[in-house]
Amino acid sequence: MKSGWIERDAQAAVDRYGQFGHAADFALRVYSTRLLGRDPKLVLHGGGNTSVKTTVKDQLGEDVEVICIKGSGWDMGVIEPAGLPAVRLEPLRKLRKLDKLSDEDMVNFQRINLLDSSAPNPSVETLLHAFLPHKFIDHVHSTAVLALTDQPDNKALVQEVYGTRVAYVPYTIPGFALAKSVADVFDKNPGVGGTWHQNRYPGARVDIPSRVYSHTCAMDYDFDHLFAPQKENERYTNWLADHFGIREHLRLSTEVLSLRWLEESGTWEVLIRNARGEQERLFANAVISAVGFLDRPALAEFPGVKQFKGRIFHTTTFDSTLDLSDKRVAVIGTGASGMQLVPDLQPLVKQLSVFQRSPGWVISMPGYRDPLPEDVRWLDRNVPYYRHWTRFSLAWAFGDHLIYNLWSVDPDWKDKDSLSAANFKVRERLVSYLKEKVGHRPDLVEKLLPKYPPLSKRYVVDNGWFDAVQKENVELITDDPIDHFTETAIVTKSGRNIPIDVAVLATGFRANQFFWPMEIHSAGTAWQLCSRGTPRSPSA
Ligand SMILES: Cc1cc2nc3c(=O)[nH]c(=O)nc-3n(C[C@H](O)[C@H](O)[C@H](O)COP(=O)(O)OP(=O)(O)OC[C@H]3O[C@@H](n4cnc5c(N)ncnc54)[C@H](O)[C@@H]3O)c2cc1C
Repeated sequence: MKSGWIERDAQAAVDRYGQFGHAADFALRVYSTRLLGRDPKLVLHGGGNTSVKTTVKDQLGEDVEVICIKGSGWDMGVIEPAGLPAVRLEPLRKLRKLDKLSDEDMVNFQRINLLDSSAPNPSVETLLHAFLPHKFIDHVHSTAVLALTDQPDNKALVQEVYGTRVAYVPYTIPGFALAKSVADVFDKNPGVGGTWHQNRYPGARVDIPSRVYSHTCAMDYDFDHLFAPQKENERYTNWLADHFGIREHLRLSTEVLSLRWLEESGTWEVLIRNARGEQERLFANAVISAVGFLDRPALAEFPGVKQFKGRIFHTTTFDSTLDLSDKRVAVIGTGASGMQLVPDLQPLVKQLSVFQRSPGWVISMPGYRDPLPEDVRWLDRNVPYYRHWTRFSLAWAFGDHLIYNLWSVDPDWKDKDSLSAANFKVRERLVSYLKEKVGHRPDLVEKLLPKYPPLSKRYVVDNGWFDAVQKENVELITDDPIDHFTETAIVTKSGRNIPIDVAVLATGFRANQFFWPMEIHSAGTAWQLCSRGTPRSPSA
């Protein structure tokens, strides 16, 4: 195809429209719209529209981000600046949050966001252009493309000619539904934050420094703690969503139920359950899974649990509204969540029975819960790149590269409780900390000393765990597994009957089944799909 662009004419348009206060990008949009509109092979039946995203000054002289898009009634071939009315971009983008929008409401919303109230109606495809990130968008009805798409086997023909350079969207009447189908982020939760939206149990907090647990592109954020608690992490993720304009792409309370790879069209069929509980079928050229591997709870199924008359919930659905002051509570599991929960739960309950399968190695972290000192926060706010420096130095201090030799196995090392001389030294320090905390209680030392070498699984930061298990209202039950539940109690294998009112399952996640219960159907294995250069998915 021959380009109609002539540099001299383009510059003339910039000069001509510039005299009336129009920016160069807008002037070039008028020029290029005319070029497209003038060629009947590109705009069959006069169809098509163009847009540019730019900044203009409003009545107060303030900069406003707008989309200038073809207005109805204008012919692209002879268009003038008045034919590309400016609409405020920010409110348009926010519409992505909605599930539905009638044509009347869409037209009204577009009109009330015009900078000039006397301008023509912006195109019916304004939202489609606004939701796409590109600065210049050309929408044409070219005869060559229509010759392919107007055939019964159009997808195959288009794919043969254009390969993966095109995106297919199934036919939808122009308007809100079409605009929404361009790019979506689905999350089954009603709020942003994933792990930090879901895990609200008392004591939930990061175990690596928050500066490290943040994005390098999003450092412009004040943390209150070196190790942020759940609320602060959730606040950070919400700030990310606002700061990077992600919210308008989100469809919350929307669960992806299945993905099916359609070989003939080269698209994914995505089955979702939307916020109203209805199933919808959508199509996508690419699907990126960010489901997280610690999202779906592993719910231990104990015999008799259905008869239990008290409350039972997993740490991910901890009910903080319950008054536990007169309750006998069981915490089942002492992994990372259980050990974080117990110190904060203990003061809230009458009696706490902690069921431990095996103890974890616990490291001392003085000041773990403390807020950041005001002088550090001042440095954060005022010294350029101080946050970056902190991030780097903490990442280095906590990095796996430094502890790699601590968890490597020395084949010549004979001690069964450690992996190497270096690992032995780590063990000595951890045992010494354990004895410092509970040495006066030999029964607890016996229960809390792990029978495997340190660092063979992730350690837990001492969040007050050692102090909590010594409290009068706490019993640590180990080496006596749960046999079954009754209506009012947990009965252990040894036959002990432990009356309880509330059971908290700190039993972790289905870490090795993280796609579950989503179904993924594809024609081949992940490896086959990768090697064919098509979208990647494990087959199911
Ligand atoms: C209590 C707890 C504390 C942790 N502390 C730390 C720590 O200190 N340091 C550290 O490095 N890591 C920690 N982790 C690990 C943590 O999981 C990761 O750090 C991080 O949150 C993972 O982010 P993600 O976006 O991959 O997944 P997640 O945060 O798990 O987000 C996954 C999202 O996918 C959504 N989703 C899942 N399936 C579907 C579906 N079918 N349809 C639609 N949406 C779906 C979920 O609703 C969720 O919002 C912790 C984990 C837990 C549970």
